Amino acid sequence: MKNLSERDKKHIWHPLTQHKLHPEMLAITKAKGCLLFDEEGKEYIDGISSWYTAVYGHCNDFIIEKVYAQMQQLDQVVFSGFTHEPAVKLSEELIKILPDNQQKLFFSDNGSTSTEIGIKMALQYHFNQGVKRNVLLAFENAFHGDTFGAMSVSGLSVYNGPFEDFFIAVERVETPTTENISSILEKLEKRLQKNDVAGFIYEPLIQGAAAMQMHDAEGLEKILKLVKSYGVITVADEVMTGFGKTGKYFASDYLSVKPDVMCMSKALTAGLVPMAVTSCTQKVYDAFYSTEISKGLFHGHTYTANPLACTAALAGIELLQSKEIQQNIQRIIIAHQKFDSEIKNHPKVGSTRQTGTIYALDLNVKMERYGNLRDKLMQHFMKNGVFLRPLGNTIYISTPYVITDEQLQKIYDTIKSALAII
Ligand SMILES: *Cc1c(COP(=O)(O)O)cnc(C)c1O
Repeated sequence: MKNLSERDKKHIWHPLTQHKLHPEMLAITKAKGCLLFDEEGKEYIDGISSWYTAVYGHCNDFIIEKVYAQMQQLDQVVFSGFTHEPAVKLSEELIKILPDNQQKLFFSDNGSTSTEIGIKMALQYHFNQGVKRNVLLAFENAFHGDTFGAMSVSGLSVYNGPFEDFFIAVERVETPTTENISSILEKLEKRLQKNDVAGFIYEPLIQGAAAMQMHDAEGLEKILKLVKSYGVITVADEVMTGFGKTGKYFASDYLSVKPDVMCMSKALTAGLVPMAVTSCTQKVYDAFYSTEISKGLFHGHTYTANPLACTAALAGIELLQSKEIQQNIQRIIIAHQKFDSEIKNHPKVGSTRQTGTIYALDLNVKMERYGNLRDKLMQHFMKNGVFLRPLGNTIYISTPYVITDEQLQKIYDTIKSALAII
């Protein structure tokens, strides 16, 4: 009986969905570890950690227990004028694993608000010092979220047409390769000489929504050095890459040039509840620190630093640092490498790439981002009990770290069998 799917249709408007083309929603009633269960009892391996959130597995007992205990102590309180143990403790623990130039944390609710705040920090940093800089730099095909500032800096604007007239001023930078880096730096330097660029926002190493496009750390480092030399505030959007996915705690850990601002969400709270953090350096914070009220960052969400979300984040960070999770991350990295050697020469596979626990392959076949062939591919995965969400002709894997070897193998086998049907 598909009772939930039917009831859903009456009042619910889903995200990223054209309901006329895709009226059917799959009702999930339960999740545990790497598995999702639908209302008919069928199980699916969560191959993308429910949009990169549930990295320690769904309904993780360790996390649930801590959040349950917190729930009985303090559920919610205003974070303007008040503070509480979970937020203070989280600030202490998060700072320990962030790049060592990060000093202050600003809380919000989701990835888009974390980048929105990063953008505001970059713009107001200059404004507060009486400097007029109102252009932002961002990569081509970037994705930073769906609120207005975040949409403006996102380059994947195919669906943003109705809003483009209202965007803030953004100029694009190509993502670096060994071939184009000299010409990028040359163009960029000319552009920077106008002294009107406030900030540069970037997804370090992996552009998730652009179908897991990966770029070179060396090239990014050169770009960061150059923009910093012109006083530009660098904003690393680690909403997707944070908390172990790249093999290190953060993608920025692969770079010697550290960001001025960092955006985190998704795996921050381990898939339990939404929350985000935008961290920054002392230098950024000091530009707002003043006896003048107007120099403060006047941004605040009702649920800022919700104690339950902070507790989930603390539990997640404890797990991330455990030997068990670190070993799991290494195990996944090696398994992906082995799978890659088996599949990369398949005639239907165009190219493959991997950074840490994230693996992606591009098919030789042309497909629309949400087109029919792509849908057929996804249906094949779901029919076989594997939740993968191809983006156009890119199939990518980003599983929870607690996935078993058998579950990983099932994902690989299902991808192999998919190659036969397209
Ligand atoms: C998902 C994502 C966002 C937006 O986060 P939401 O929580 O969906 O608003 C921003 N930046 C990156 C890199 C993301 O992957």
